[in-house]
Amino acid sequence: MSDTSKFYRLLPSVDGVLDRLAEEPDLAARPRPFLKDLVTETLDEVRKLIREGRVTEEDLDAAVLLSNIIDTVRRRSRPHFRRVVNATGVVLHTNLGRSLLADGAVQAVSEACARYSNLEFDLETGKRGSRYSHVEDILKRVTGAEAGLVVNNNAAAVLLVLDTLCKGGEVIVSRGELVEIGGSFRIPEVMEKSGAFLREVGATNRTHLHDYENAITEETTALLKVHASNYRIIGFTKEVSIPELRTIAQPRGLPVIEDLGSGTLFDFAPFAFGYEPTVQEKVAQGADVITFSGDKVLGGPQAGIIVGRAEFVERIKKNPLNRALRIDKMTLAALEATLQLYMDPELARKKIPTLAMMTAASEDLRKKADRLARRLRRTLGDRATISLMQGASRVGGGSFPERDLETTLVRVVPASERTSLKALRDRLLQGDPPLVGRIEDDAFCLDPRTLAEDELSLTAELLGSVFGDPEQ
Ligand SMILES: *Cc1c(COP(=O)(O)O)cnc(C)c1O
Repeated sequence: MSDTSKFYRLLPSVDGVLDRLAEEPDLAARPRPFLKDLVTETLDEVRKLIREGRVTEEDLDAAVLLSNIIDTVRRRSRPHFRRVVNATGVVLHTNLGRSLLADGAVQAVSEACARYSNLEFDLETGKRGSRYSHVEDILKRVTGAEAGLVVNNNAAAVLLVLDTLCKGGEVIVSRGELVEIGGSFRIPEVMEKSGAFLREVGATNRTHLHDYENAITEETTALLKVHASNYRIIGFTKEVSIPELRTIAQPRGLPVIEDLGSGTLFDFAPFAFGYEPTVQEKVAQGADVITFSGDKVLGGPQAGIIVGRAEFVERIKKNPLNRALRIDKMTLAALEATLQLYMDPELARKKIPTLAMMTAASEDLRKKADRLARRLRRTLGDRATISLMQGASRVGGGSFPERDLETTLVRVVPASERTSLKALRDRLLQGDPPLVGRIEDDAFCLDPRTLAEDELSLTAELLGSVFGDPEQ
């Protein structure tokens, strides 16, 4: 008998493995047909290895094989979309889900999902209501605007505003503000999709009021300002303010629209990364329509928020495109809970994780780094050298570019020359949960800014499992 057919016979049956899986507490509740698929695929892969002569008799020892198959099935049955530990120090990491919600917002989402709600039901009249009414009042209170509306994200908000107010006409934009945001959002392309025509004015670094004024024609439908977000023009620069634009727009009945991108409701002036105008200030300056994201610096769910003068916002609300871009009930629940916190900025700073992480005191971060370093030394023993180093975190999400936030990094340097930093990083990505850090200064670095207090032990455990047991 050839090795191949002898080896095939050592393989367990699909049903045999499934019965064994039923004894694993974390797998028992998974749908059996799903597990069966995974077991069949895994056994097929082993058969292929046998065919290719890449398996020895020891590999097929019943206990070893079964335990390997169970590990593989467990790994593959994990949700594809799952929790990650963010040790990068980038607070609004777009690839890692941007904002984390405040506890109250998480509860509101949970209730909105598990129970019926008055999503489109007016409890005063017992008749059909509007889903937009739930957040409009709080948006008006927090921003001082006359009216407000929310849609799926800020890209949708910009599209909807242009489609409503500018379709078929020209929109004047400064050349320095034709930005591209990560994830392929480009102002000129969104404009084209909305059916509005872009009229670029000024130079990349300087645009003057007369540039806008000279470009106004019969075709002009709006003046648009776009927050540069992820880049800064420094040196010999000039941009035109909202009040200046108002002086030429208002007499002609043209709206001044501003895409603020991140848009903050919190005044960061007292903090290290410098001044950024708030949405409230923009409203007070007289911007007619303002759009911004819910999940950037605001620290809420993914959403696009539109506030401004009632005459324009009411038209936007009536656009049929709105139906295609509409916000879902979970988002509404999270957004209302988040916005309410802004009625007390100090409370917002404490409760909204994004704000808390952005404004964390250097001294507190140093202490947290110290707690993490101690845990790592205990777990890793002499398998790695752990030290602290001054470093920089980033806000991310295209907000506050080029502004470093002071932090204390925990450096992990493997004792063995054979463990490369890249291999360490890759193995941590395969962990459960995966951990994302950064390689800097010839070390694997962990930034405590984006680690929750209850993630410090977990971080040590994850590194511990990558380095193997201390006894080994
Ligand atoms: C981020 C950003 C957008 C897109 O916002 P999303 O909420 O990600 O859709 C649009 N405009 C500017 C200026 C931005 O910074």
